[in-house]
Amino acid sequence: MTSTISAPADRAHKAAKRYIYAWGDGAAEGNAQMRDMLGGKGAGLAEMTIAGLPTPPGFTITTEACNDYFAAGERLPDGLWDDVLEAVKEVERRTGKGFGDPANPLLVSVRSGAKFSMPGMMDTVLNLGLNEQTLQGLIRLTNNERFGWDAYRRFIQMFGRIVMEVSGDRFEHALDASKQAHGAQQDTDLDAAALRDLVTEFKGIVKADTGRDFPDDPYEQLDLAIKAVFASWFGKRARDYRKNQHIADDLGTAVNVVTMVFGNMGDDSGTGVAFTRDPNTGEKTLYGEYLTNAQGEDVVAGIRTAPKIAQMQTDMPEVYAEFQRIGQQLETHYRDVQDLEFTIERGRLYMLQTRSAKRTAAAAVRIAADMVDEGVITKEEAITRIEPAHVDQLLRDTFDPGALKSATKIVNGLNASPGAAVGRAVFDADTAVEWAGRGEKVILVRIETSPDDFHGMAVAQGIITARGGATSHAAVVARQIGKPCVAGSADLNIDYAGKQAHCNVTGTQFQEGDWVSLDGSTGALYLGKLPTVSARFEDQPELQKILSWADGIRRMGVWTNADKPEEAAQARSYGAQGIGLCRTEHMFREGERLQIVRGAILVANQATRAKAKRAAGTALETDEQEAIATFDAAMAKLEVLQQGDFEGIFRAMDGLPVVIRLIDPPLHEFLPNLEDQLVKVTRAEATGGASEEDKELLATIKSMHEQNPMLGLRGCRLGIMIPDFVKIQTRAILNAQIAVKASGGNPIAKIMIPLVGHTNELKRTKELLEAEAQAVESAAGGVEVDYKFGTMIEVPRGALTADEIARDAAFFSFGTNDLTQMTFGYSRDDAEGGFLLKYVEEGILPVNPFQTLDDAVAGLMKVAVEKGKATRPDLEIGICGEHGGDPASIFKCEALGLDYVSCSPFRVPVARLAAAQATLTQAAERDK
Ligand code: PEP
Ligand code: MG
Repeated sequence: MTSTISAPADRAHKAAKRYIYAWGDGAAEGNAQMRDMLGGKGAGLAEMTIAGLPTPPGFTITTEACNDYFAAGERLPDGLWDDVLEAVKEVERRTGKGFGDPANPLLVSVRSGAKFSMPGMMDTVLNLGLNEQTLQGLIRLTNNERFGWDAYRRFIQMFGRIVMEVSGDRFEHALDASKQAHGAQQDTDLDAAALRDLVTEFKGIVKADTGRDFPDDPYEQLDLAIKAVFASWFGKRARDYRKNQHIADDLGTAVNVVTMVFGNMGDDSGTGVAFTRDPNTGEKTLYGEYLTNAQGEDVVAGIRTAPKIAQMQTDMPEVYAEFQRIGQQLETHYRDVQDLEFTIERGRLYMLQTRSAKRTAAAAVRIAADMVDEGVITKEEAITRIEPAHVDQLLRDTFDPGALKSATKIVNGLNASPGAAVGRAVFDADTAVEWAGRGEKVILVRIETSPDDFHGMAVAQGIITARGGATSHAAVVARQIGKPCVAGSADLNIDYAGKQAHCNVTGTQFQEGDWVSLDGSTGALYLGKLPTVSARFEDQPELQKILSWADGIRRMGVWTNADKPEEAAQARSYGAQGIGLCRTEHMFREGERLQIVRGAILVANQATRAKAKRAAGTALETDEQEAIATFDAAMAKLEVLQQGDFEGIFRAMDGLPVVIRLIDPPLHEFLPNLEDQLVKVTRAEATGGASEEDKELLATIKSMHEQNPMLGLRGCRLGIMIPDFVKIQTRAILNAQIAVKASGGNPIAKIMIPLVGHTNELKRTKELLEAEAQAVESAAGGVEVDYKFGTMIEVPRGALTADEIARDAAFFSFGTNDLTQMTFGYSRDDAEGGFLLKYVEEGILPVNPFQTLDDAVAGLMKVAVEKGKATRPDLEIGICGEHGGDPASIFKCEALGLDYVSCSPFRVPVARLAAAQATLTQAAERDK
């Protein structure tokens, strides 16, 4: 095909602007580059015409006309109608037919066409121009009365529904009644007389429902249809679609007025839709359906079962060969798979549409890989053709789409961690473990999760919570361990005592043991056991090939957030180049560990005070000595356990950097819930007295209780108040390093301090840590330990004073979960369950800032990057908040010049692709 970058041909116009671009007879005024003005359909028709492909003549009214129509209060701009009349005359000349001419009627289709394909925005109106007179002409010319009446009833039905807004059911019921009365199985079984009666009936329906006669004047029909297409741009379906696809409202739609060609003129006619490659699998073969003796909507609506396109090879071999050649030509020209609409009128092929085909994730990857191998596109283009969401889909089990259609939905929530999970509902973590232990698959249903639930989450197939959002405990942990999760299903009422739940909105309920199916990709829970389609990275060589190309392109590294050797190994198999965040407190939560940690925390404050007293030379009371002994014993156990964990992680990431963050969350997170303990003690007191132990526990929990724990004693503050945490963790990390080195490994340790807001916090912690490191070295007989010391930037003050902080930190890692929380002043644990999702729904916020990095947060990061590098030019900077796995945020990280992004293991492949795309986009921006 020829290139069409040439300037569009001039055209006289009465309107203030040029709104019309026509095509026909092998020439077109528009071209493929004019999608903004002509929409995809209009640009495609122009381009096909220039290329010499058979298209029916017509014209496009531009998207600008649509915008001006709305700007003028839903009035056609002055002069536009005159220009339309002129364009109609031109089509009449090209076809030799007359619009409204009973002797040789010109009929047209009127179709919307926006810049981006918007399926279902507005249906096409076919056969426009028909009335009782032109109908007779059509019948005479085709010598087919049935065909004529069928065309007319279709026109009234479509025009009535789409332009005059009569309910489609009204026509369908009348059609069904007619079929029943005539004993007809299919529409095609109705004869001319029956169709004529239907026309009368349809017109009656229009009159009854709208109070207006069905318009006979073809020009009035055209005027109304053009306005209806414009109006459809702001119809609910179109608005919803645009919102979902992030398409701007001010693009407007074009209107295409195209000469009708008829696929229903007999057995040498037909119509169909086909793709140049299979859009489901990507296989290089013509894929589609076609029907002989039918009009376009018959194929789409499935009124008759359409045979596969291959059947055309038998029915009309020459037309098939021509179609195949054209398909190939269009694919080569556009360098992408095309979605084609065509009609055959009495053996003559007409192309009605070509556009880039929508495709499944599997097809997108295969097509991109094949096209690189075929030399059609470059590796860079292949990378940009695949959506990050495609990669994610390919790595997640999904529900069988057929089964989803008929499934009973229980509730919707936030799609917190993708994938499909099926299991029996359980309402607490212990039951989950017990049932899983006997081989049951379970879905854990909780109002919200806490560290206490981890063991249940680990064995569950999936997790659903009624509260919490994208950075809630449930969401973060589920993503990290690769479990599907739906969070914040606010309409789900969960009754722990009754072991049941019901949804206020759908009225559906379920009990413990009932089978439920959870879709973490869409955020929905269904009743029953839905069939799933499974996915494995190892089985997807094409995806791996594409990602290896991405690795060759991207500038940023892709690291992972992992707390366990298994997670680290999983992430490494997905291509992770290091651990950007190992949350050490996650290691405190399992089984016996939680008890040990609790034991330590309960006496932590007392023991720390006693140690200070002892250091000052003051004698200790017995209870103080006991507190120290209990505390030290628990911490010693913990140190041994943590050292084992770190050895495992170092081995799994041998030769790659491992960023280990010292303890971060407020301590009460590891203690029993205050309310539960209060209830326990109060009940016991009422029935004979609570134990001393329970009362003491209650007192300790109360003493540690904070009104705003996320702004309280956590992060580096904790290590400063209770230095033993820093000490034992430092020892555990460095002794693990020594052990792994001794066995021939190459452990690369980076120790990270959370929540630093003032440089002195970092200094103090560093002193403590360095002293401990020296102690480890001497205890190991002078073996040198080797680590880097750095910090998280997750407090606004930390970002703003990054120049001071960088003096003591060899690396920064942005904790954007907290940085977002503190920049907005939104509680990350509560906001999404409360107002935040509503904010997003109503457009107060463009996106959920806990999922996609907000620009103001990115602004703080920019300051931190600049200031940090001013102090220390070789400062290594990454991100380890949840945003590190979000493609839109990864683009922002590239722009900030970060060295790496770190995300949960299952998001690593997505991040590899997104980082490569970000590199390409940045390069393109720079070249502009
Ligand atoms: C963060 O705040 O972004 C972060 C990674 O730390 P956490 O989620 O553990 O607070
Ligand atoms: Mg944090």
